[in-house]
Order: sequence, then structure tokens, then C-alpha cells
Amino acid sequence: YGPSYVREIAPYVAGKPISEVAREFGLDEAHIVKLASNENPLGMPDSAKAAMTAAAAELGRYPDANAFELKAALSAHYGVPADWITLGNGSNDILELAAHAFVEKSQSIIYAQYSFAVYALATQGLGARAIVVPAVQYGHDLDAMLRAIEPDTRLIFIANPNNPTGTFVEGPVLEAFLEKVPKNVVVVLDEAYTEYLSADKRYDSIAWVRRFPNLLVSRTFSKAFGLAGLRVGFAIAQPELTDLMNRLRQPFNVNTIAQAAAIAALNDRPFLEKSATLNATGYQCLTDAFDKLGLEYVPSSGNFVLVRVGNDDGAGARVNLALLKQGVIVRPVGNYGLPQWLRVTVGLPEENEAFIAALEKALATA
Ligand code: PMP
Repeated sequence: YGPSYVREIAPYVAGKPISEVAREFGLDEAHIVKLASNENPLGMPDSAKAAMTAAAAELGRYPDANAFELKAALSAHYGVPADWITLGNGSNDILELAAHAFVEKSQSIIYAQYSFAVYALATQGLGARAIVVPAVQYGHDLDAMLRAIEPDTRLIFIANPNNPTGTFVEGPVLEAFLEKVPKNVVVVLDEAYTEYLSADKRYDSIAWVRRFPNLLVSRTFSKAFGLAGLRVGFAIAQPELTDLMNRLRQPFNVNTIAQAAAIAALNDRPFLEKSATLNATGYQCLTDAFDKLGLEYVPSSGNFVLVRVGNDDGAGARVNLALLKQGVIVRPVGNYGLPQWLRVTVGLPEENEAFIAALEKALATA
């Protein structure tokens, strides 16, 4: 059944759930450490839990299809009119909506080698043509991406910081790139990890949205805000873009509980600051350990780090299996063309320690 471009899609590989690993390896769930999906190790903020409980009383009714309160909160927070915002069922939904809203089957989409897997899925799901631009030092080569633009190109995906490599493009470099992209090409700037950026790396992409009518900034509540399970993402762009995405969007794509929790999380500054600080310390701990073990890693601006665990193409899968047997779940990235590497999410201090101890054993035995 179905068109060949759908049959050719390789399914998205998500982090293994704790319950599955417990069953498969005969382990106690309580002792399993999951550092595989770039989630916030603190879990949900208490403020969001309270908001969810209150919202549960409303579940007999449909959600607010236009998410009036959440959009008002986002609008106030980011200083843009409410109609510059489109909500998604996670930011994956935003990425896919953007592809469907701005690109036809006969046209092309550009993204970088080693960039987020959903860009390929969104492109293939349309039957559109992917132009994959080789990475430089595991990150985006924006000059090459500009050169790759063809007459039929309608969209460019850029993740900053990038997943799975953690690489980061400095604000002024990105701004110069946006100035050069033709206005009939939409740039989706995927900032899923932006809240983790250190102060010296921050830039004002919302100001760029006012300047560039072809720019769409994508954000998520799944990472620093701690709401991955609720599935809330959003896009900020000028209404010419958001209007099209809103027409395509499923009317109730963000549920009642998720809308309420997102408002609470958005306004919970202390939680966000605590998350960023915990991440910075945890990142230091992981990379110090990699240095000691003599392991190469890609310096990361996100809440995860890509580490090379061997020099043969079986290394990632082998070390991953040895870690799973010890109850530590990380992410193999062979599907990204990085079979010698593993991506590990920064966890709580004790989780980072457990991972490092397990990694040392895995390297010695695997
Ligand atoms: N963009 C990037 C770069 C990501 O790493 C992720 C999460 N893996 C997403 C988007 C999607 O996250 P969500 O759908 O949970 O918002």
C-alpha cells in the first residue's frame, strides 16, 4: 500500500523506555538510569503539576482549540502578538506542519548532515526532495547550505543547538545567513535547547522574526521546561506563516492538561534556572570523565553530549549493549551515520556518576 516515498521511510528511533529495558535485561526499574532522550532530569516542575491537577476537572470538555490562555502567556513572555504563535503537539508537530504548509512534493528541503532526524522524516513524508549538506566538525556549514539552495527549495531546517551533536552556531553568523536566504525560502530555526545556552551564547531570535518574514522559530516545553510527556511545542513567526500552519493544524493538538501545565512552566523562572545550572555542572562532570578516559567528544551547547566510544563501526552498538546490561540507557546514533558514538543526556549528579562507572566497565569489557 501507499506511495513509494512513504514505504522508503526509516521509522524514528526513540530512546528505549525504562520498562522495556527492565523486562529485556531482567533488571529492577528503580535502578535503571535513563539518559537517552534529552529530558530534564528534574522531571516536571511542581508548579506544572499543580496546574495539571486543577485542569483535570475540565477533561469532560474539549481543550480550547485556540489555546487562548497559553497563547496569551507566550505572547506576553516573548513580546509578540498572539497570532504570531502556532502551537504543536510537541515541536515535532511544528516541524512537520512547517514542511506541509510551505513545501510541495515537487520541491526541495535543505538540512544538514547529522541534524535532527525529524527533518528527514518530514521531508520524506511529503515525498519532497531532501538536500543534505555535509557537516563541518559535526555542525552546520551555513555557507554550504546557502550554496545548496536551488530554485525549487522552499524550506531550510536548522537546529541550534543541534541534536545529536550539540554544536552551536553563533548568533551573528546565523543573522548574516538569514540576510542572505531568499525570501521565498522559509527558515525553520529549531531552538529546542535554547534555554540551556550560557549567557555569552544567547541571541535574540524573536527580534529576527520581526525582521525576516521567512523566519520561523521553533521551541519546545519538552527539554528545560520539563514537560516532554505532555507534548507542547510552539512556533513564532509572522502571521503570513503562522496562518498557514494554523489552517493545517489538528484543532485540538494540545490537550487541556498540557495547556495548563505549559502556562505554569513558562512562568516558573526558578525551575528553569535550576535546570540550566544543574545541566552546566553535569556537563562538566561528564566531559571531565571523558577527558580522563581519553574519549573524544563534541563540545555541546545542549543538555547532552556526543562521545566516541571506539574506532570501529561496531563500537556504538557494542558499548550501548554493555551499558544496557548494567541498567544505563543512552542513545546509539548509528541511524545518524555515527556508529562509533553514543549520545548521553546530562542527568542528576548520581545518574551521571552511575553512567560513568558503567561506561568504564563497558569499555573494559565490550
Ligand atoms: N528539535 C530538536 C533539535 C530535538 O532534539 C527535539 C527532541 N528530540 C525536538 C525538536 C522535538 O521535541 P518535542 O517534539 O518533544 O518538542
